[in-house]
Amino acid sequence: MINLYIDFDGVIVNTIDITYKMASIQGIKKDYTNYLQFFQNLNWEEVLEKATPINDSFNEIRKIIASNKFNVAILTHVTSIHEAEAKIKLINKYLENMTIITVPKSVSKTKVINTKGSILIDDFPHNLDDWSNSGGYGVRFDLDLDGKGYPVIDRLSQIISMF
Ligand SMILES: [Mg+2]
Repeated sequence: MINLYIDFDGVIVNTIDITYKMASIQGIKKDYTNYLQFFQNLNWEEVLEKATPINDSFNEIRKIIASNKFNVAILTHVTSIHEAEAKIKLINKYLENMTIITVPKSVSKTKVINTKGSILIDDFPHNLDDWSNSGGYGVRFDLDLDGKGYPVIDRLSQIISMF
């Protein structure tokens, strides 16, 4: 079985759309420090209540597990313990026995996972660059099917036939 890591924000749920809209309404400046502060102060329970699964993501993950080709885990960046708690709670509501790894936003996902031969599905090209530079396979999730140089999917179960 191949290790498969699936990003959360912008892949499983549409939190990116929701949080960026909130940031723009609040007039948050688009630099790293301001955004980090904004994300650290967010009420994540509220964000995740508003968020909706992208393209039936939770059922798509169940299909991936049922294929028996992959060891599946969710690998998500967080800016606070509160954010981690809220995300874990939501994922547990939909998926039983799922491995969930939360990584501090300041740390590359490649620093907590043995990436060699492992797949990462992520919407953020920078994360895929890091991943492939450290020996993993990057697959971009994008609703416009723009791979930015990576194989691309817009429904998670499409990964089954790719490997
Ligand atoms: Mg993401």
